[in-house]
Amino acid sequence: MLLTQPDLQLDPLWALTAECAADLRLNRLNLVIGVYRDEHGVCPVPQAVQEAELRLASIAATKEYTSPSGNIEFNAGITDLVLGDSDLTQRARSLQAVGGTGALRLLAELLAITGPERTVHLGVPAYVNHVPVLQAAGLRIQEYAIENEGYLNVDAVVEAVRGARAGDVLLLQGACHNPTGLTMPVAVWEQLGHEMNRAGVIPLIDHAYFGLGDGLEEDLAGMRRMLEIVPEGLVAVSASKVWGLYSERTGCAVAVMSNPERGTYVHGVLEVIARAAYSQAPSHGARVVAEVLGDDGLRAQWRAELDQMRERITGLREGLVRGLTAASDAPEWPALADQRGMFLRLPLSPEQMARLRIDHAVYGVPSGRINLAGVPTAAVDRLANAILEVHDR
Ligand code: PMP
Repeated sequence: MLLTQPDLQLDPLWALTAECAADLRLNRLNLVIGVYRDEHGVCPVPQAVQEAELRLASIAATKEYTSPSGNIEFNAGITDLVLGDSDLTQRARSLQAVGGTGALRLLAELLAITGPERTVHLGVPAYVNHVPVLQAAGLRIQEYAIENEGYLNVDAVVEAVRGARAGDVLLLQGACHNPTGLTMPVAVWEQLGHEMNRAGVIPLIDHAYFGLGDGLEEDLAGMRRMLEIVPEGLVAVSASKVWGLYSERTGCAVAVMSNPERGTYVHGVLEVIARAAYSQAPSHGARVVAEVLGDDGLRAQWRAELDQMRERITGLREGLVRGLTAASDAPEWPALADQRGMFLRLPLSPEQMARLRIDHAVYGVPSGRINLAGVPTAAVDRLANAILEVHDR
């Protein structure tokens, strides 16, 4: 008989989404789940992705197994894209994964297998799935607070590294931090890289939103700088947001290693982990991304579409902060303008977030996170007024 698990943790965000769907108020705003939405509330498939899908369908390629590493062109394309034309790319070995989550899980298991004593140092508030993924791989977690009055607490991150033991891991989000929107300037990535070298700490970088903060190259620059400084590092790449491929479960685990022998070993371990879990990752999303990245025209089109997504998000953030600061001189608002990406973290308590839901039909996460991309431009002023009303009550 199956035993019951007393502390079963279902995803709380899906419960809130269901509550929103059942809300009959026409002006309800679902700002819970982290997907990009256009002005009409649609989570679109980019044109470049649609075009790639048409091309792939028209050549009716085989559905034969790909390889233990998945789609090799996809792995190479993603690695070139995120690491750039550099020595890092030469030192990297990659494996296609089942979404960014799957990449995180593969890398977490790699870390656990190769160092059972390791602790992962995790800044909180963290992405809701980080703790479950790391724990499922059997890793120990040490949390530290990353925020200070709405801004990144750089000293806290440095302290976390200095307090770590050699072989420990620092988990960082590459850009557009979920749920806080906090970003790390390149100089801080560089500083941390030197601290990590001194402490023997390995970076595990989760990149799910590159291109949605300050620009594609800008959002990748910090990670690249750190990886140039440290001997080895691991990157979990998600194709979900950047190519709109959420349900295709497309991602990539990238390991930048110090020499080819270690690269071959680590790659082999990743293949063994994947084989024991699901054998090979699903093919479609990776083929699409490989097609987009491998064709100059599609690639340029995708870049333009990514820019449009970013501009929409940036415009919404600016509009909301403008609305808040025009009506209120509370000290919390200016920090919101410094955040980047799809998420904005409101300085509101869980009770105030509940008021936002009950009184204003605005559904965000109790921690204060809202998905900016879920806001139609015409609703920005209403949202600002609703936030002010629950904040000042
Ligand atoms: N990391 C972060 C920070 C995320 O927000 C997400 C998606 N919500 C992921 C990883 C995983 O993305 P995927 O859907 O590709 O598994």
